[in-house]
Amino acid sequence: MARSFSNSKIGTYSTCPRQYKFQYIERAAVEKPVGVEAFLGTAVHHALEKLYILKMNGKLQTREEMLSNYNEYWEGPDKETIKVTRENLGVEDYIKVGTEALTKYYDKYQPFDDGDTVALEKNISFPLDPNNRFTINGKIDRICLRNDGVVEIIDYKTKAFLPAQQALDDDEQMALYQLGVMHAWPDFKKIELKQIFLRQGAEMKTVMDPEKLEEIRYRVFQKILEIERATQDDNFPPRESAICDWCVYYELCPAKRHGLALDDEIEVEFDARYGEKLAQDYLMVNEKKKKLEAELKALKEDIIKYTDEYDVTNLKAERGSITLHKQEFKTFPGVTDSDEEYLKITMLARDAGLDECFKLDQNILYKEFFAKEKLPSELADKLAKYVISKKRYTVRPYYKGR
Ligand code: SF4
Repeated sequence: MARSFSNSKIGTYSTCPRQYKFQYIERAAVEKPVGVEAFLGTAVHHALEKLYILKMNGKLQTREEMLSNYNEYWEGPDKETIKVTRENLGVEDYIKVGTEALTKYYDKYQPFDDGDTVALEKNISFPLDPNNRFTINGKIDRICLRNDGVVEIIDYKTKAFLPAQQALDDDEQMALYQLGVMHAWPDFKKIELKQIFLRQGAEMKTVMDPEKLEEIRYRVFQKILEIERATQDDNFPPRESAICDWCVYYELCPAKRHGLALDDEIEVEFDARYGEKLAQDYLMVNEKKKKLEAELKALKEDIIKYTDEYDVTNLKAERGSITLHKQEFKTFPGVTDSDEEYLKITMLARDAGLDECFKLDQNILYKEFFAKEKLPSELADKLAKYVISKKRYTVRPYYKGR
């Protein structure tokens, strides 16, 4: 059976793999307060949906009727779950933002006769790949068959800022919407993508040709394959960022639990103080190591200078001696010397068929070719039996205030 993905599901993985695991694999039971920005978006979408449903049935709402419908939504049963995180702002401020945005919209687009509404809040679902392994789901705000015969896919935004045009021209969500519409209505030939930024009263448009759509389809396919690999290997590391402050899984997160336990904010089944001691000792020893490495490097440079200048190779000391081997040889630059020259030399050697100059990079073979399914199937089948699992632990020290 095809596995389902949506743009937001893929986005969650890109933002933080661990959050993805909490949400879509473990389905961790946590309280999920609704962020006020998200609620504002839903309230505005709800008002516009009602406006167009009535319009399709021959009734044009007045601006006041639309706003009254919008205000009613804020008074609904979800009101108690709304969470405001920004300081100095309250729910009333967000209600006002929505009122102003809808007013701008109404005044700009009334009497809403840009074309025939084909669908509102339309659920789409289509196979992403020819083998039907993955299905993409999504919901489109409005699809309009314009009077000039062009089909517009319209997405309402309540964001505070507009994206760059370049970002919209490469927008994965909009491309997936278009692929979904083309799947549902194969006869729609001319399609335009439009985002309406309600706060600003602005709109941005783009058109994606078949090549662009294929490029994005392939990119999304690769992202899903990465999620599939992570699922297979159970590899979902936490990726800390500014969004952690809004993450509903914060108290469950492996990146946060030890700190919370030390501050007595959660109860845990492990000895948090012992963990603190381990971290403190590691940081101290690592700091000493770094200092010693720097000292060693400086000493080595002084020794080279000294032995070169006085033409000696052995230095005697109370604790023993140092012997300096100096060897001069010719070679070609490696990738760390100059990656540009390294690339040119590689191409020349490959053109000459000098296969013995290249050693296999098994990581690239796996990650870039095998896992991304870029190899001919016969070769991929032969390689499959050699795939092994390895574990790698990396300890990365962070020093406060650096
Ligand atoms: S708290 Fe941060 S790192 Fe942890 S799951 Fe949430 S987003 Fe990821």
